[in-house]
Amino acid sequence: MRAARYYGRGNIQIDNVPEPDVAPGTVGIDVAWCGICGTDLHEYLEGPIFCPQPGERHPASGDSLPVTLGHEFAGTVYAVGQGVDDIAPGQRVAVEPYIARDDVNTGPDSTDYHLSEGLGVIGLSGGGGGLAEKIAVPRRWVHPIPDSVPLDHAALIEPLSVGYHAVERSGAKTGQVALVGGAGPIGLLTSALLKALGVTVIVSELSSLRRKKASDAGVADHVLDPREVDVAEEVRRLTKGRGADVAFECSSAQAVLDTLIDALRPAGTLVVIGIWGDRAAIDLFKLVVKEIDLRGAFAYVNSYPAVIELLGSGRIDLEPFVTHKIGLDGLIQEGFNTLIHHSETAVKILVSPSGEGL
Ligand SMILES: [Zn+2]
Repeated sequence: MRAARYYGRGNIQIDNVPEPDVAPGTVGIDVAWCGICGTDLHEYLEGPIFCPQPGERHPASGDSLPVTLGHEFAGTVYAVGQGVDDIAPGQRVAVEPYIARDDVNTGPDSTDYHLSEGLGVIGLSGGGGGLAEKIAVPRRWVHPIPDSVPLDHAALIEPLSVGYHAVERSGAKTGQVALVGGAGPIGLLTSALLKALGVTVIVSELSSLRRKKASDAGVADHVLDPREVDVAEEVRRLTKGRGADVAFECSSAQAVLDTLIDALRPAGTLVVIGIWGDRAAIDLFKLVVKEIDLRGAFAYVNSYPAVIELLGSGRIDLEPFVTHKIGLDGLIQEGFNTLIHHSETAVKILVSPSGEGL
């Protein structure tokens, strides 16, 4: 079968590799669609970060370079390993792409397995990846999806779960006002979740194309250009002087962080989702005198069932966010290079590893 494998910085190749062994306790999946994530771009441009280091085995998976990429994927079960009796071939599924140590509680009651020591990610740390025609994944991480959710949308369950966990962390409630800083894929999906919750959403974004996407997709009530308006002033105007109840940092940009702290109401909550490569400066005076809660949100934990139910209910439409569909052969030119050089023209680029969906 064909697979996109990461050999190191700037080196991804489409290889012919053996099909995975559907070992006891695992589920064999024919991958229908796999999204390209910002994390994949970072591995390509600056890695290895989450991928194994050259000459070393990744502690989570035991795999060394090259590793198959792709952690945002969905497909159809084609085989089940010994001992798997609650899922059958033909079932459509999405994968929560974790590799957790055996001694970590990953049960439905866990609220912190995503923070556990030695955690790895399928499609980065080894363990196969979604940018291949097939993958075998431990049953724990395989989530059935209802027939009403198409497989291309199901490939977005992973980034949608990132937004879901961030909204959970914010404590946002129906009727409140949220300010979302940055309308990349995570900012847009977080906005969609907030809208579904009945929150008024204000988006601040530099790119006109992304602002248009936020408006056209109907996930923002107000879309602001920080070069045109003072965003914090505008948020206060829109909230009768109060400020936003919650804010989401989805850009890893200092100017956005400053704006969000300014625009929050006293006792508001700021959730940082962006993965910051550099240290940020925070106006701690404002944070203290406004009693702002500053919270990080990382990945997701037991979020898939709720996100899948939300998608199944039809309350979120992911169609506007799937902007490109390509095959494995176009991965670098049409996929990575578009996201690296013209990211404002794309939201989610989906790859069909077998080419069947194209
Ligand atoms: Zn990702």
